[in-house]
Amino acid sequence: MKFDRQNIRYRTWVYFTALTLGVLVVLWIFQIVLLGSSFKDMKVNQVKIVADRIETGIKTNVFGRAIQVSAVQNNVCGLVYNSRGKLLYQVDALGLGCILNEEAINFAQSVSDYTQSLKDSPNGEFSITVKNSVIQQDMIIYGRKIIAPFGNYFVFLNAPLTPLDSTINILKEQFIYVTIAVFVLFSLLSLIISGRIAKPIVNMKKSALRLSEGDYDVVFDTGRGEFSEITDLANTLNHTTVELKKMDDLRKDLIANVSHDIKTPLTMIKAYAEMIRDISGENKAKREKHLNVILDEADHLDHLAQDMTQLSQLQANVLTLSNEPFDIVDLIQQSLRLLEGLIDAQEIEVELLTPSEVLVKGDPLKIKQVLINFIGNAIKYVGSDKKLILQVLTHKDRVRVEVIDHGPGISEEDLPYIWDRYYKIDKHRHRNVGGTGLGLSIASAILKNHHAPYGVESTLKAGSTFWFELPYAVKPENAL
Ligand code: ADP
Repeated sequence: MKFDRQNIRYRTWVYFTALTLGVLVVLWIFQIVLLGSSFKDMKVNQVKIVADRIETGIKTNVFGRAIQVSAVQNNVCGLVYNSRGKLLYQVDALGLGCILNEEAINFAQSVSDYTQSLKDSPNGEFSITVKNSVIQQDMIIYGRKIIAPFGNYFVFLNAPLTPLDSTINILKEQFIYVTIAVFVLFSLLSLIISGRIAKPIVNMKKSALRLSEGDYDVVFDTGRGEFSEITDLANTLNHTTVELKKMDDLRKDLIANVSHDIKTPLTMIKAYAEMIRDISGENKAKREKHLNVILDEADHLDHLAQDMTQLSQLQANVLTLSNEPFDIVDLIQQSLRLLEGLIDAQEIEVELLTPSEVLVKGDPLKIKQVLINFIGNAIKYVGSDKKLILQVLTHKDRVRVEVIDHGPGISEEDLPYIWDRYYKIDKHRHRNVGGTGLGLSIASAILKNHHAPYGVESTLKAGSTFWFELPYAVKPENAL
């Protein structure tokens, strides 16, 4: 298998390694490279403390114990000359290691060189590093010119630079161990961290693959809930899976229902056409009857096709609804007139509880369709009292329309689904009662497009109230 350089584990390891290297380089610079010079600065500062004491001594003419103590504390030896080159004062905490003693005694020339350097120095001081050949060690020589009321003085101090090489070597060696330890530790850490991030993602990938193969039972791993983005992603994918499953079920249902709904009228059309051909062709009355069945079934197919087109358009939001003022009471009356035939045929009594006029806003043609569906269903499922109630309630900020029947009602389990397309509570009753099984889903899509609240309240064996609400176009003065 080809090694994937982009995978999380490898990448995290690379970043961690880069980070480790960066930290180690910075440490190296500070610990090893800058150690020598900062150590020397530190030493010079120590020597300067002794020089300060001596300067105070000269200025106050008191060369007390304090100077000696400070020289011992800071490991310094030194000489003080006056401007005529006379040695005035001497401190020694180094003994044989004091380069100045040696030089002052044996190499007087050097002292005069140092004095000259001081005279030339713009800030009246200098510091140099020289090798003490006696003790084989690097040493600092520090000089300061002191201007006092009684004349000028030259102070030379000498301090050893503790051999740093060995310290640096120890540090270097330690540094190698630290580097190895840090590398191992960071590599382990990067593996653990990247593993924790990568694992749920890898699992998700596996689940996604199963999903793409049509397995809707997959569950996306949310990991240990450590990383909220991963948990969110997994939750979103789980939600998507549920929705996909619903869609897939719906698609299967739809195909099954559509083919069933098309097949039934087609079978009838075929059967009756054969009957006309073989039996009733010569008999005018029978032929008429059979032809009417064919026409009815063809009509049913036509309705089905229209409803399906409309529903898909509504659900795809390709229809633009008008938003105009219209009288909802008038629209109810128009719908009732359209259904008059059915109402009269079943001798249904319709009770209208409405004000004389209520102006609402919406698309009147589409709302009429909703009314026809609600009233049509109420007629289909009318109770034994043969009574329908149509009510318009004028609330404070909206108008509520209710279509009430005292029919069989809808059970609580069925209630949430009746707005789904093709949902039929009693699948066998459907064709006897008529309808394409799309009526409520079309009504629901229309009301959703209006952003209008809608719903149903129903009790088994007591009846149903289908309702929706629309905003006022003009609010009547007596609105509640
Ligand atoms: P259909 O063409 O089957 O009437 P609808 O979408 O209009 O399709 O209704 C869906 C289902 O809701 C119906 O099959 C019926 O079971 C139930 N239903 C609708 N209206 C009523 C009602 N007023 N009383 C009882 N059941 C109803």
